[in-house]
Amino acid sequence: MLLQAPKGTQDLLPDQVPLWRHIEESSRAVLERFGYAEIRPPMMEYTGLFQRAVGEVTDIVQKEMYTFGSDAPGKEDTVTLRPELTAPVVRACLENSLFAKKPFQKLYYLGPLFRHENVQKGRLRQFHQVGVEALGSYDPLLDVETIELACALLDGLGLDQYEVRLNSIGCPLCRQEFRATLKAALAPRLSGMCPNCNARFERNVFRVLDCKEEKCRAATAGLPSIQEHLCGECKEHFGKLRGALDGAKLKWALDPRLVRGFDYYTKTVYELTYPTLGAQNAIGGGGRYDGLVEELGGPKTGAVGFAIGLERVLIALTESGKAAEWLSARERGPEIFLCTVTAEDRVRTYALLRELRARGLAADVDFEGRGHKAQMRTANKLGARLVAVLGPDEFTKGSVKLKDMATGTEREVPLAGLADAVRAAPAVPSAPAGA
Ligand code: AMP
Repeated sequence: MLLQAPKGTQDLLPDQVPLWRHIEESSRAVLERFGYAEIRPPMMEYTGLFQRAVGEVTDIVQKEMYTFGSDAPGKEDTVTLRPELTAPVVRACLENSLFAKKPFQKLYYLGPLFRHENVQKGRLRQFHQVGVEALGSYDPLLDVETIELACALLDGLGLDQYEVRLNSIGCPLCRQEFRATLKAALAPRLSGMCPNCNARFERNVFRVLDCKEEKCRAATAGLPSIQEHLCGECKEHFGKLRGALDGAKLKWALDPRLVRGFDYYTKTVYELTYPTLGAQNAIGGGGRYDGLVEELGGPKTGAVGFAIGLERVLIALTESGKAAEWLSARERGPEIFLCTVTAEDRVRTYALLRELRARGLAADVDFEGRGHKAQMRTANKLGARLVAVLGPDEFTKGSVKLKDMATGTEREVPLAGLADAVRAAPAVPSAPAGA
């Protein structure tokens, strides 16, 4: 038991890491193009931050947080592994007086999160998100920018089958009125709904609209919509947002049932779904949270953000064949693999290897005591671009044959000029054997 990774966590093995790095690097390039700067809050925060920001009655705070370790017994200072990153980013902005320096901030993060969830495909306990928080503006165009950015992140990876679902859940004022209307309409239907929805009716009635169970969806059909309860300001904001999205020719669908699992959202909420992901088809989601900075003790600050789940991105990339396509197109392996003939040559070869690496070349050598032919096979498997076989003759002559693994051509080069010769050799990409 102790020799297994905890349920809901994954080892990212060396053959999987390149794809993760591709996702990360592609994301960073897009984010920086949109003017977002990276922020890295800690993995844990004081528990109270999430209770206050995410909301006491949300599923995350009630059931899913990993909380432990009080500094002083009896003190309410436990920490929680971050189950989301909006609250930590806002906390970091306030604690480090970022708004005093620059009232408008565009930030992004990329890293692991922790939620004690029921594990299934695309639902883990340690998972990763790339997300943004744009703080310091009430402009509906900023909502548009974040939606376009979320799309650009997926587009950048070649994932173009996503759908954008959009809703406005109004401000606390519109919601107060809608909550009462919704409860009155729902009360007679509750007996036909799942236990979760019955609990939500008391705790957080809007989440009833989000239930995936068939009987609940049927029971909530035809309920009043928040759209009919938006105040003038929320209606205007949503109208401008919709107009700008249409102007951008971005395809989106209004989903009046879309509510999200955090209390801090106001006005705009959105979700990006990926049809091939199955039950867990949300690949990302976000919205506006105009009250959160103030709630956490800062100035009144309009803000909007989203997060995309990287495990789900990876599933979509794999299932669409894009992952395999990318892996096979990319050049891998060392630029040169040095084979040795006798044990005595190894030390001299290692000195040569050191020199090549010092000159900035990816170079490698055998460490498993393999014979000359087996070393050639290793070089091939690794996808080495060039191979040099170094035996007593080569060291006596002071030159070696450099073999191009893609074309099979060989040419003699002086050992003293090996690094320059490797550099000068035309780069014909050679995929590793079996890739
Ligand atoms: P949320 O922070 O709940 O709004 O989720 C944003 C995105 O993170 C979702 O659309 C998923 O892609 C991803 N996500 C959320 N929870 C999990 C989880 N437990 N495992 C994997 N991905 C998740």
